[in-house]
Amino acid sequence: MFNIPKGTKDVLPTQSYKWQYIESTAREVGRVFNLKEIRTPVFEHTELFRRGVGETTDVVGKEMYTFEDKGGRSITLKPEGTAGAVRLFVENGLSSTPMPVKTFYITPAFRYERPQSGRLREFHQFGIEVFGSEAAETDAEVIFAASSFLNKLGIKNVRLELNSIGCKDCRSRYNSALKEYFKPHLDDMCESCRTRFDTNPLRMLDCKEESCKKTVASAPSILDYLCDECKAHFEKVKHILDCQKVRYAVNPRIVRGLNYYTRTVFEFVSDDIGAQGTVCGGGRYDGLVAELGGAPTPAIGFAVGIERLMLLMENTGASYPKEPVPRIYIGGMDESSREAAFTLASALRSAGISAEVDHMYRSVKAQMKYADKLGAEYVVIIGESEMQSGELNIKNMRLGTSATVKTDEVYSYLKEEKEND
Ligand code: ATP
Ligand code: MG
Repeated sequence: MFNIPKGTKDVLPTQSYKWQYIESTAREVGRVFNLKEIRTPVFEHTELFRRGVGETTDVVGKEMYTFEDKGGRSITLKPEGTAGAVRLFVENGLSSTPMPVKTFYITPAFRYERPQSGRLREFHQFGIEVFGSEAAETDAEVIFAASSFLNKLGIKNVRLELNSIGCKDCRSRYNSALKEYFKPHLDDMCESCRTRFDTNPLRMLDCKEESCKKTVASAPSILDYLCDECKAHFEKVKHILDCQKVRYAVNPRIVRGLNYYTRTVFEFVSDDIGAQGTVCGGGRYDGLVAELGGAPTPAIGFAVGIERLMLLMENTGASYPKEPVPRIYIGGMDESSREAAFTLASALRSAGISAEVDHMYRSVKAQMKYADKLGAEYVVIIGESEMQSGELNIKNMRLGTSATVKTDEVYSYLKEEKEND
């Protein structure tokens, strides 16, 4: 017996329809927002994430699945989707195509974290990345796409928290202010924060240690350090959201875990799934494309954690569509009627109707029971007399009614019934 690796999950046959539903909803959002799907490899050169996510982040510092391959290269399983998307954009010369380049992805991601509710070592993300526009309208559109995805899934009770972390200049002024503020408190803060103090004080705002949270609460706000352009950009984003009646709260403590963000950052947060309440995180990363070797190109995106989203759906009673069931179960009584059942099933399947037959040589009674368990909408059992007359007795399992239908008219019968359903 083998066990699944810690922090990973199977998707069971009875559960996969939920994943399919979420993924098709994501693709539908992609369609209406005119985003094109991209797919990047599950692993990349380690250096991409070091540069793209940032050495001083927890993701790069502590959480990456990194190994040397047989050719002696350092390889890392993707911990997130943005760095790979940017590499794709740069490497394939997409900067010479008309802007903006609007993309989305659905991908597994890997982080060596302590597994707990809403925190896995392999998890999945639906993300979008839009390249080439620095307009505030683009920020708003990306935020709409996230909120429209959550809405379509029937998720309520998530709040949108919004912040601007400015540009390089704003941040360097802010970092100095933070250092000045935190300096006298350092002895009360956790070890990671003492390191962050030297490497990246902004990260201290993100600390989840109770002892640090108190100190962080009174830290200066980034919003007081924004330059005029960044301030104007943020005002415009908020203005568009206001006009569209999107509700949000400005939270100057949101800095996001990855280093590449600039200006707008946002999270969709829930109180219904415990400590890991952020289902979606995103923001602008105007410096990243150049950082990874491309021509300077502004960009913005988000990623939703699908497992956390599912947790939220379970906990708040957001409903999934019904699990798909066979349209018809076609049983057989003996060798030749089983063959006829098989032939009919094949014809229906070719025409796009889901049909199931007996694989287990069950008795007629057991087949009826099994068909019921499957939830088949219609059931027909073929026997000698049906073979002779060419007429079948099709039972509607939901209504308990029956109809006599010619064998070669089963398809049109089921189709007509569908219209009446
Ligand atoms: P967290 O607050 O959990 O540390 P993060 O800032 O590390 O989040 P991002 O890198 O912004 O997360 O990833 C975007 C989304 O991916 C998160 O909002 C969350 O829904 C999901 N996510 C991140 N890490 C995990 C994980 N280990 N397991 C499950 N989902 C995750
Ligand atoms: Mg994290």
